Amino acid sequence: RLDIRDLHREFGGRPVVRGVSLSLQAGQVTGLLGPSGCGKSTTLRIIAGVDQQTSGEVWIDGQQVAGPGVFVPPERRQIGLMFQDFALFPHLSVADNVAFGLKGSRTEKRIRVHELLEKVGLARFIDSFPHELSGGEQQRVALARALAPRPSIMLMDEPFSGLDNRLRDGIRDETLGILKDEGAAVLLVTHEPEEAMRMADEIALMRDGRIVQSGAPYNIYNAPVDLKAAAFFSDVN
Ligand code: ATP
Ligand code: MG
Repeated sequence: RLDIRDLHREFGGRPVVRGVSLSLQAGQVTGLLGPSGCGKSTTLRIIAGVDQQTSGEVWIDGQQVAGPGVFVPPERRQIGLMFQDFALFPHLSVADNVAFGLKGSRTEKRIRVHELLEKVGLARFIDSFPHELSGGEQQRVALARALAPRPSIMLMDEPFSGLDNRLRDGIRDETLGILKDEGAAVLLVTHEPEEAMRMADEIALMRDGRIVQSGAPYNIYNAPVDLKAAAFFSDVN
């Protein structure tokens, strides 16, 4: 479970995140949706611990990981990350990519790697290298890698934007199934209303560093908080 409380971030005196509060439950996908530059990635980076807030708090499973005088480094936050440029390590095999963040014995790692590659349907590529895989296949390896250490929180920043339309729908649905199965709390950042509508259980609509509306996708779509929100959704059908 993830709780963000009144998060602020300024860059050189310019406020970019202006009081974001959010809660994520295990097994739920929350879509953080908003136009370019509204502060989505900055929020995600602070949760991951690769950037620090100006003020506010981040809690993971009841433990404070960021706040006044508190900073838990990224590698101790139990967070899985998946970004748009999901860059696999080109010199490592698929198996070694997935095993990268894993601790434990060789056998334990192998079992987990197998299990995940089965799940994403790529067991036959276990000894392949990234350049031998299509974009969609690489994306699935990146998902397996992010999930391997069993993170309780999964942060995804526009993870599907590198894929062509034909591939994207299938991979979205597949990813969703796997995420639900693994039971992580997921924060999915996107600037595409359609993606949020399709994948999220809850949507938080962000604008100018603030969350202006949150709720079930259906409710937000049908009762946007204002004209700007309505216009933002107007392309979805
Ligand atoms: P997009 O949908 O385009 O990815 P976003 O909502 O993820 O947008 P952010 O990346 O969070 O937006 O950036 C929000 C604002 O903060 C932008 O105006 C950006 O220029 C600024 N910003 C982000 N990181 C820094 C930084 N390290 N230094 C200065 N300004 C920054
Ligand atoms: Mg971004």
